[in-house]
Amino acid sequence: MSSELKILAVETLLVDVPTIRPHKLSVATMHHQTLVLVRIEASDGIVGWGEGTTIGGLAYGEESPESIKTNIDTYIAPMLVGQDPRGVARLMAAVADRIQGNRFAKCALETALYDGQAKRLGVPLSELFGGRVRDSIPVAWTLASGDTQRDIAEAERVLEARRHNIFKLKIGLRSVKDDVAHVAAIKRALGDMASVRIDANQAWSVSQALDGMQRLADAGIDMVEQPIVASDKLGLQRLTQANIVPVMADEALHGPRDAFEVASLQAADIFAIKINQSGGLRGAAEVAAIAKAANIELYGGTMLEGAVGTMASAQLFCTFHELAWGTELFGPLLLTEEILREPLAYRDFSLQIPARPGLGIDIDEDKVARLRRDR
Ligand SMILES: [Mg+2]
Repeated sequence: MSSELKILAVETLLVDVPTIRPHKLSVATMHHQTLVLVRIEASDGIVGWGEGTTIGGLAYGEESPESIKTNIDTYIAPMLVGQDPRGVARLMAAVADRIQGNRFAKCALETALYDGQAKRLGVPLSELFGGRVRDSIPVAWTLASGDTQRDIAEAERVLEARRHNIFKLKIGLRSVKDDVAHVAAIKRALGDMASVRIDANQAWSVSQALDGMQRLADAGIDMVEQPIVASDKLGLQRLTQANIVPVMADEALHGPRDAFEVASLQAADIFAIKINQSGGLRGAAEVAAIAKAANIELYGGTMLEGAVGTMASAQLFCTFHELAWGTELFGPLLLTEEILREPLAYRDFSLQIPARPGLGIDIDEDKVARLRRDR
């Protein structure tokens, strides 16, 4: 190992990719996704990749693709260039001391550093988090076309292909009654072949949620995700303690401090763990540890990232002892462009996790160069 080892460059790329169909959430309708990719090159020639992708510009979170790029380029990259890339924890501690917030930007940088370091050590990234307990993880599919018949046809198609047997329905744009009718029709069509869950993305009031949850439980729905506004943790506690159907916290979790508060209040049955929302892989591992200590079950969440963020998440989630509710790491399947030389392997209702060093993926850099916004 050379003591001269240095980070040569930190690059942030915005990559706009159309989605395969409109993706309707209560906060935004997506027709494309902007991948925020970070590429860190070191003097030993090793390149690490990270991703800080978000949903719907500023509709979902307080960081936008453009703000992530600007903040990394202007404030964070200069702190890293010239430093030894091997000290990931030391570098990220320095960033945490001088940079407020910016969880997505920090996640992208930390992932790229870990990818590079795992490649340097010749081990899969999962080894840096204690090693994996599984080589594949279940992956849910989100039905969000907004059309009941189209959603049923889509679900039947991926079930038949043995790609997914867990379905999450995005609701919250229509009345509770209309939304529940839509969900119930899909559950009736799929029956016991599939687990059906909903995500209201904070759209409901507490009283709407109590009403909706009862109707959804009667329709055979397995779980409700973040039905009410993220800041109302006491409301989430009421819903959880009403004990109608398991409640998952998603937007309420912005890292370990939120996780501790939600766990302390017993305000969720399940945590959606997201590496970006947690400020990185280490933060997400801490959220998972808090859940475990509080007997809260785990679900691996997504910000609809492309292959880099998806595999970074998978490399961490495969180290969790329990992953009772599976994951939703389907982001790359929603996109029309492939940025890997070999696509991620989805089969038998699961994402297969490669055993190669680092993230275990091969970025097609020519393809990324063609797709980047400032090409
Ligand atoms: Mg969600």
